[in-house]
Amino acid sequence: ATLTDGERAEATIDLAALRGNLDALRERVGSATVMATVKADAYGHGAVRCAREAVAAGIGWLGTALPQEALALRAAGIRPDQARILCWLWTPGGPWREALLADVDISVGGRWALDELLAAVRTTGIPARVHLKADTGLGRNGCQPHDWPELVAAARRAEAEGLLTVVGVWSHLAAADEPGHPSIQAQLDAYRDALAHAEAAGLRPEVRHLANSPATLLLPHSHYDLVRTGLAVYGLSPVPEVGSPADFGLRPVMALTARLALVKSVPGGHGVSYGHHYTTPGPTTLGLVPVGYGDGIPRHASNTGPVQIGGKWRTVAGRVAMDQFVVDLGGDTPAAGEEVLLFGNGAQGEPTAEDWGRACGTIAYEIVTRIGARVPRRYV
Ligand code: PLP
Repeated sequence: ATLTDGERAEATIDLAALRGNLDALRERVGSATVMATVKADAYGHGAVRCAREAVAAGIGWLGTALPQEALALRAAGIRPDQARILCWLWTPGGPWREALLADVDISVGGRWALDELLAAVRTTGIPARVHLKADTGLGRNGCQPHDWPELVAAARRAEAEGLLTVVGVWSHLAAADEPGHPSIQAQLDAYRDALAHAEAAGLRPEVRHLANSPATLLLPHSHYDLVRTGLAVYGLSPVPEVGSPADFGLRPVMALTARLALVKSVPGGHGVSYGHHYTTPGPTTLGLVPVGYGDGIPRHASNTGPVQIGGKWRTVAGRVAMDQFVVDLGGDTPAAGEEVLLFGNGAQGEPTAEDWGRACGTIAYEIVTRIGARVPRRYV
């Protein structure tokens, strides 16, 4: 990656890698359909650009958490005949009418949601496309087994009245990234039961879906009709202990680079950054990297986050501040303006988002998703 002239930092988004990842996922799931999950601004990669790229590559399903995210994609010109968009995180008083008008698929995981949706269907006269969500054990969103028969029956009645079509029956896994976790089989069984009940009640969902990225990569029998892949689309491994992105045919899409803002010599025993949590072990040079937690660099990277400068790995020295952090350059004197690779796809020996996740006690998902709007994205 080469920084655009004058930029202090930028995130480079490799759209060819994104397309390659989608191809690899399609090949892996065979006859199942790949949904590109583009919530949270496509995990920090830019929702509209990534969604457009996916649609141009023939992806016919997009997933968002918020209805507002789905509406933004429609407003950006992604038409229903190009891609269905499913949004799954509704709160009371949500934009039901707008979602119906925009022909967005709606997840319903409880009675209150069905009631609010049906009210909007009656006022707009537009029947809804619904995906009924079962909580098969995640314990988060979705309908508990004891409430499932009632929700299914209510949806079936509404379908018979022409108010909606149950397009999908779905659920979400708690520990697909932990091979052998006992919840996996329990959830597969519970999902099969929920589906069987829905079908016995007369529903004929055209898309049954359960798998996220780790399930897509590790659990072929969880694929059903559609996989809701997020992290893998962006070329990161959801199971780094099992396999690297390359092991799964994936390539990281985001690289984060910055430009050294200052290089200076300091004596030994010099405290660095707030609280002086780093002290120079001897005379050395310090480099100032002009990104901080205001850009999404975790403060947990203090004294641990890796960067590459002039081919060498360096570590954040002292605390990450809001707009900047410091690295100990060990006597090297690169010029101000020299490129700092925070993370990339690893092809230049640079750290990856996975390395940052490990250094900060978190996961690669959080590293890329946090990179904020203050960092310009450059699409290549
Ligand atoms: N499905 C749902 C309901 C989600 O909340 C998410 C993201 O957390 C995904 C799919 C995509 O998950 P992943 O990024 O692991 O593929």
